[in-house]
Amino acid sequence: MTIDLDFDRDHLWHPYTSTSKPLPTFPVASARGVRLTLEDGRELVDGMSSWWAAVHGYNHPVLNQAAKDQIDRMAHVMFGGLTHEPAVELGKTLVALTPAPLQKVFLADSGSVSVEVAIKMALQFWLSQGQTGKDKLLALRNGYHGDTFGAMATCDPVNGMHSLFSGVLAKHHFAPAPQSAFEGPLQEEDVAAVRSVLEQHSGEIAAIILEPVVQGAGGMRIYHPGYLKAVRALCDEFGVLLIFDEIATGFGRTGKLFAMEHADVCPDILCLGKAITGGYLTLAATLCTDRVAAGICDGEAGVLMHGPTFMGNPLACAVANASIQLLLDSDWQQKVAAIEQQLKQELLPLKALDSVADTRVLGAIGVMEMQEPVAMEQVQQQFVEQGVWIRPFGKLVYIMPPFVIEPADLSKLTGAMRDLAERS
Ligand code: PMP
Repeated sequence: MTIDLDFDRDHLWHPYTSTSKPLPTFPVASARGVRLTLEDGRELVDGMSSWWAAVHGYNHPVLNQAAKDQIDRMAHVMFGGLTHEPAVELGKTLVALTPAPLQKVFLADSGSVSVEVAIKMALQFWLSQGQTGKDKLLALRNGYHGDTFGAMATCDPVNGMHSLFSGVLAKHHFAPAPQSAFEGPLQEEDVAAVRSVLEQHSGEIAAIILEPVVQGAGGMRIYHPGYLKAVRALCDEFGVLLIFDEIATGFGRTGKLFAMEHADVCPDILCLGKAITGGYLTLAATLCTDRVAAGICDGEAGVLMHGPTFMGNPLACAVANASIQLLLDSDWQQKVAAIEQQLKQELLPLKALDSVADTRVLGAIGVMEMQEPVAMEQVQQQFVEQGVWIRPFGKLVYIMPPFVIEPADLSKLTGAMRDLAERS
């Protein structure tokens, strides 16, 4: 059966697309390992892990089996007043894998929702203490935290794809994106900029929210882990909570299980998502400390005011349990380190080309920032013709392949990037 592409074009929204001027979509028939098979039989090496998620590749027998086993027991039950083994097991795993102070787990249904929950936790924490003035956040330029309205308000107001809505979004404070490179000294100015906002506004700031070490969709920027330590200290000094959004960076992508481990820093609230189910199902989690949870629950409302229909979905939790176990049982550190090594060898030299503004690599993330925005439609088509799936945006051409990718396939991805840079 062939996919009705006319219907797709005429009726289905795709992410950030126009229905008036739709871009071509490529019909996928199946996927296995690091390969997507198109309807016409062409195979593409996947450089995206379906936006950071499919760390084990596609169609993995262990994850397939976990889904099948769970679906025969129950696909879903409400989490209000009921509980189940997959959720309890996942909760135990997340509490065990993250820093000890993070003890309470809210199982949300997508990354953006987990950010909404994190924001709500922070606001409710201070409201419960009678601190009604702490109703703003401090976020970073070039940050990205999701597409729902609460999350959007914390994205870079210019770069974050949501500037159109600035009139209706909550008004938060922003600090400049950290400039200190991953390796090298932590620049005083980066920390001073955060201090300066807190000195002026800490009375109205509930929490700082940031993506540790790697800013994703807001610019694919990699920065110094020491910044996290400094921000943690500032939060403690000024009485502000700290939220880490590890939705993109979590589960091994940066070379550590969580990016915060590069600096050994613990937030008050942590968001996880994407790779939590190995890319099989939508699921996310918001963890917080006992202090935050008690602060919320000892207040007037007495409860955390959130509870989506598909919270703690058993099917998603069961696959998450299998995916995390699969990751922990694998030699993911060596795999990611080998990918990092190869990306450094094959991508970093491209910086010398005139068309390329910068190249950067951390863990299984490789970024080529062009001097000019790429012609998306044309470039996408060329990549497909070259047998790779890489989806650029703006000036950024980047890859974060499944950890199971073999060196020859990784070279195919970096080769296509080099080709683009040489042609541009
Ligand atoms: N935070 C970060 C850092 C992300 O990269 C994303 C997704 N790109 C989100 C939040 C939102 O997650 P979701 O798309 O699952 O809502």
